[in-house]
Amino acid sequence: MTSQYWICLTCGVRYPQAVHPPPHCPICEDERQYVRPGGQAWTTTAELAATHRNVLQEEEPGVWSIRTEPTFAIGQRAFLVQTPEGNLLCDSVSLVDPETMERIRELGGIRAIAVSHPHYYSSMAAWSAAFGDAPIWIHAGDREWVMEPSRNIHFWTGERADLFGGISLIRSGGHFAGYQVTVWPSGAGGKGVLFAGDQPQVCLDGKWVTFMYSYPNWIPFGPSTVKRIVKSLDGVEFDRLYGAFGRHLVSDAKLVIARSVDRYLRAIAD
Ligand SMILES: [Zn+2]
Ligand SMILES: [Zn+2]
Repeated sequence: MTSQYWICLTCGVRYPQAVHPPPHCPICEDERQYVRPGGQAWTTTAELAATHRNVLQEEEPGVWSIRTEPTFAIGQRAFLVQTPEGNLLCDSVSLVDPETMERIRELGGIRAIAVSHPHYYSSMAAWSAAFGDAPIWIHAGDREWVMEPSRNIHFWTGERADLFGGISLIRSGGHFAGYQVTVWPSGAGGKGVLFAGDQPQVCLDGKWVTFMYSYPNWIPFGPSTVKRIVKSLDGVEFDRLYGAFGRHLVSDAKLVIARSVDRYLRAIAD
């Protein structure tokens, strides 16, 4: 038996190299994810590479989305943000293969990685190792959820971190204590873009957003948490929002968030 990297089939998070898969996945056992009805299941990096591929797509000048086909785990997407001072990999996917690495190298490589929350940790340690030990920016509030330790993880503290090329990380909390969004002011023709991941979550019609403690188990937040999440974005300039799962707010994102908060608070009021 050889040692392999095990990946949880349900959440896509990679675990340290071992002969046998881990006994369980704490991220899936948490009430913000779920263990599939058939029980915990695993794949390996080799199996994943044999059955899946990554697709890169230019969303706008300087922003490339990276998704895996066929859809894997929760359907994570990452974004490569190109700046004159280097590129940021925002969020992460489980499949790290030579083709994708080559493509990213052509686009300027990866200077740093920033992952919104544990449901997107996937193979972040492998992406870092593949690109010169690029630092992985994770908020210290989510330290306990890192399943594959890496010396390249930089646990930051506080409410805001300024990286390079104008990119900043904002701690929003909510869905996870250390939940972070990424802001790039040069995006959307200089009006600014927000890489939001799961929070706010873009609704199916692409005209509204919502907020949930747990999406798979439909557990909402109370009013004070939603207000706190939105307050963390006060003073942050952006017009476009890139959400998870290929759903985006192309423009007027601030307006959409404001009216969506009103709708949400009305819906949960007595
Ligand atoms: Zn899992
Ligand atoms: Zn999530």
